Amino acid sequence: MANGHNGTAGGATVKEMAAGQAQESALFPTYARYPLSLVKGEGSWLWDDQGKRYLDFMCGLAVTNLGHAPKAVAERLKQQIDTLWHVSNLFHIPGQEQAAQLLTANSCADAVFFCNSGAEANEAAIKLARRYHQKVKQDGRYEVITFTQSFHGRTLATLTATGQDKVKEGFLPLPAGFKSVPLHDKAALKAAVSDVTAAIMLEMVQAEGGVYPVEADFVDYIVELCREHGLLLIIDEIQTGMGRTGKLFAHEHYGIEPDIFTIAKGVGSGFSVGAMLGKGYLREAFTAGSHGSTFGGTPLAMAAVNATVEVIVGENLAARAAEMGEYFMERLNSRFANMPFVKEVRGKGLLIGVECAEPVGELVLAGQEKGLLFVTAGPNVIRFLPNLYVTKEEIDMAVGIVAEVIEAHTAAEK
Ligand SMILES: *Cc1c(COP(=O)(O)O)cnc(C)c1O
Repeated sequence: MANGHNGTAGGATVKEMAAGQAQESALFPTYARYPLSLVKGEGSWLWDDQGKRYLDFMCGLAVTNLGHAPKAVAERLKQQIDTLWHVSNLFHIPGQEQAAQLLTANSCADAVFFCNSGAEANEAAIKLARRYHQKVKQDGRYEVITFTQSFHGRTLATLTATGQDKVKEGFLPLPAGFKSVPLHDKAALKAAVSDVTAAIMLEMVQAEGGVYPVEADFVDYIVELCREHGLLLIIDEIQTGMGRTGKLFAHEHYGIEPDIFTIAKGVGSGFSVGAMLGKGYLREAFTAGSHGSTFGGTPLAMAAVNATVEVIVGENLAARAAEMGEYFMERLNSRFANMPFVKEVRGKGLLIGVECAEPVGELVLAGQEKGLLFVTAGPNVIRFLPNLYVTKEEIDMAVGIVAEVIEAHTAAEK
C-alpha cells in the first residue's frame, strides 16, 4: 500500500494518520474477522502466528473433512504439481473423467460438471434445470422454488435463490425466476407451484440457516409434487455432502434420488472445487458450448478430488461420521441436561447445532481463548463441524470447553 512517495513521516499513509490507526487493510471489509491469524494446520489442530494451538471444530466450514493437510491428498497434489497443473477443457482431462467415475459410481448421479465453488455448482444446477425445460421439454419453464432460511451462495442468481433477506440487501434488481416458501409448509409449497415452475431446490439440513434437518415426511411430499408436475428436484449438498452427515450424501438418509445435486465444501479437502451432478436424462440439456468454466476440473484440482473421494469412500468415513456424531450428540445432551441456557441439540452426523436461549457470538470468542474453534448458524445457534477423523477424546475436550464457556457466560450475567 505505502509507495514511499506519500509525503508522510515514518512510512504511514495519509489515510492511516487520519484514521489514527496502525494500518488500514488493503482488503474489502466483506468479513468480520476474528482476531486470529492461523498459519499452520495438522489433523484436528491449527496454530496461530503466536504458536498457540486450537482444536478445530469448524473445519473452514465443512471444508477440511479429512483434517488439515491430509497426507494422502498432499502426496497426490505434490505429484501433480510436478506433472501438469492446467489444460483447457477443450481437451480430454483423464483425472476429470476419473473423478466423475468415482462420484457417479458412489451416488445416484450419472454425469458430473466440475467448477470451482459452491455458488458456481448451484448456478450450473439452476442453468441445467432451465435449459432442460426450455430446450429438451420445450415447455418454457424457468422458476426455481427454494425455502426460507436456506443458503445457496453469493452470486446474483444464488443469493436470489437463498431464502434469507440479509444476503440480498443493496443488490437490486435481483434476477427473476425465484420464489421462497417456508420449510415444512406443504400448502405454501403447493400454492407456489405453477406452469412456469422448473425445479424445487433445498438443503437436506439447512446449515447456515440454523442446522435444521428437513423432515422425512416433507421430503416425500416434495418428491411427489415433483413427480406430479414434472419438476426437477435439486439438492444442495454443498455443506452436507462428502460424508459429513453420516452418509456420503445427505439425501441418502431419505431414500430419494434427486435429479440434480451439488457439492463443493469437502470435495477437495480445501482445494477450491465444486461440482454439479445429475441424472443421465439431463445430459442432452447441456450440449457443447451451453456451459463452461476455465478452471473447472483442471488436473491439479482433480488430483485433490480423486485423493479425497478415494479416502472418504475407501475408509467409509461417512459411517465414522455417523458413529462419532451420535457420540457427540449424546455427550452434548448429557453435559447440557441441567443448563437452561441450552434449548436444543440437533443435526445429522457431524453437522451439529446447539440452539441457545441468547445470542452466542461472544461464546465463540470465549471458546477461541480456551483453544476451541467453532462457528454460529444464525444468532442463537452454535455450530460444530469437526473433521471426519475426530476422536472421542477430542469430542470430550470440545464439550468440556463449550460447557465451561457457557457456565462462565451465565455466571457473569447473574
Ligand atoms: C457454502 C455453501 C454454499 C456456497 O458455497 P461457496 O463455495 O461459498 O460459493 C452454497 N450452499 C450451501 C448449502 C453452502 O453451505
